[in-house]
Amino acid sequence: MVAYCSAKALVTSSQAWLSSMHYILVKRIKAFCCSVSVNFLGISMTFDLRTALPTILPKAITWAEAHCLSISQVGQPLKETLLAVARSVGVLYPDRIRIAEVPSLPLPEDAELREAALATGLLGPDMIGLTLGYGIYVCHGHDNIRLLSHEFRHVHQYEQAGSIASFLPAYLQQIVSVGYANAPFEIDARAYERNHA
Ligand SMILES: [Zn+2]
Repeated sequence: MVAYCSAKALVTSSQAWLSSMHYILVKRIKAFCCSVSVNFLGISMTFDLRTALPTILPKAITWAEAHCLSISQVGQPLKETLLAVARSVGVLYPDRIRIAEVPSLPLPEDAELREAALATGLLGPDMIGLTLGYGIYVCHGHDNIRLLSHEFRHVHQYEQAGSIASFLPAYLQQIVSVGYANAPFEIDARAYERNHA
């Protein structure tokens, strides 16, 4: 998963009705280790992601597995150059990888899961790549070697974990503990980014 941003303004579902009433929102996010505060109109709302994780996790796994299946049906296999890149970052079975180009990353329909994904920055508007097992979503115009090598390293991480259901608990635990940027799986993926095939 890749984002080239730090703090992002968020609008939560609970704020949406206020927006529709033409309130002027001051959107600001302060991300802490395990909670996210959104301030608007002087009101602070905090989501405790660590507390929410046990209920979010099963839904996240179901969502990820469904999208992995979808990508396997519509995504494209890698050409030889990208197969080599995937191998070079540790992927055991690069021929299983499928890439689906999308206008934007899909958001979960489930409100709680969507809110958590946005609050952590995992599926925010600046996200341009998302790896779910052997399935990779890439936003249009971003299928460059740097992004793909990063996502291929996540494929390697899924392979090491054994499955989506095994990888996501550890990955999301890192996100809620130390934040997206400092999550060891993200640090590892960034370390394997390459600029050339
Ligand atoms: Zn990533």
